Amino acid sequence: MQNPNCSFCGRNQDSVKKLISSPTCNCFICDTCVEVCQSILSAKSIRKNYTTLHLPTPKEIKSMLDDYIVGQDEAKRAMAVAVYNHYKRLNYNHNNLKDRIELDKSNILLIGPTGVGKTLIAKSLARMLDVPFVCADATTLTEAGYVGEDVDSVLLKLLDVANGDKERAEMGIVYIDEIDKIAKKLDVRNFTRDVSGEGVQQSLLKILEGSTVNLSTTMRKTQKNDELSLDTSNILFICGGAFVNLGNIVDTRKKSSHIGFDSSPNLKNEAYSYLDSVEPADLIEFGLIPEFVGRLPIVIGLHPLDKKSLINILTRPKNNLVEQFKTLFSLDNVTLDFSKSALNSIATKALNLGLGARGLRTVMEEVLLDTMFSTPNENGLEKIIIDEGCVTHKSPPQKVFCKSNLKKSTSV
Ligand code: ADP
Repeated sequence: MQNPNCSFCGRNQDSVKKLISSPTCNCFICDTCVEVCQSILSAKSIRKNYTTLHLPTPKEIKSMLDDYIVGQDEAKRAMAVAVYNHYKRLNYNHNNLKDRIELDKSNILLIGPTGVGKTLIAKSLARMLDVPFVCADATTLTEAGYVGEDVDSVLLKLLDVANGDKERAEMGIVYIDEIDKIAKKLDVRNFTRDVSGEGVQQSLLKILEGSTVNLSTTMRKTQKNDELSLDTSNILFICGGAFVNLGNIVDTRKKSSHIGFDSSPNLKNEAYSYLDSVEPADLIEFGLIPEFVGRLPIVIGLHPLDKKSLINILTRPKNNLVEQFKTLFSLDNVTLDFSKSALNSIATKALNLGLGARGLRTVMEEVLLDTMFSTPNENGLEKIIIDEGCVTHKSPPQKVFCKSNLKKSTSV
């Protein structure tokens, strides 16, 4: 057949990118119609999933989080309840259309030093619930119209992660990191607009609360004009930050207040014990505007990780670092082993870096660099044992070669 037409839209072969023929060659479909069919199918399957969605209980959510996140029990419990309530509310609002009490959403603020699992908790929850997830950095955002990323760009990313599926994006999770860095600038001599601080907080208000946001067409080439709006009322926003010096603010407030449920003496006397008694007023004093604080009603503290937790992070969670490096070496047919004391020293070094669990990878990379450099060239190498000396004194690891190459195990 010469110059066939698409059997669906009727367009000619010359005016489409691809025309696919049926096996019998008597009907055809063009690339555009395939895309349309695809979106119909995926929209249907989501709706089907949505109504039959099994929402795990807070206990189940917490135990799933336990597989990935070491320690932070209080935070995991609080997050499990918050996320459970969020999606329960979403199911309720979706299924009860008449005479219902509207359930408002509660976004979440995570406070804690760097590398303690704030992002990991948010990411793990999204993976567990199979909802789209994006992580944005508040420091890269600016008030609309100024140089930098628009706040709306976060929603565009969410739509992208959901493969353009609006319905899925509208029930996703957005994690905004470094939220403490957009605190109001307190320098009163500076009369210029605070476009990266208070300005961003103002811009975030509307998306955090829940509104239909029109996304600019210029920023998205692949979608059509009328599809570029997103309703944020069911999107769960989780903000996170280290809030350095917030402890002083909390302590000052506690000292000056004689009444209140937190006026009891601090028995733990730990530098981070303030995390359990942060109040909205403290966040406002820190530089968040009251309207912004009001939209983050759930405040959860994550504590610094001690050495024992760091050792556990190395070996216990799914995808732990030790397993990751073992797998890397196994691709060169080499078994990698760590002595207990080596793991202990890696944790100590990481603790001293002050980067939380993030320091573990830095230390591991440093300890294994030379070994990773030479291993692919070492014929007959079967096993590498990392002991304490490799970590503390950069001494070379013990290496075991296969018997046919060498008769004994050597230290290189
Ligand atoms: P932040 O608190 O700064 O958001 P992240 O959650 O991004 O820190 O953690 C950085 C990395 O450190 C993660 O990818 C993860 O591998 C590890 N990590 C941090 N905290 C934990 C934890 N509590 N349990 C397991 N791994 C952790």
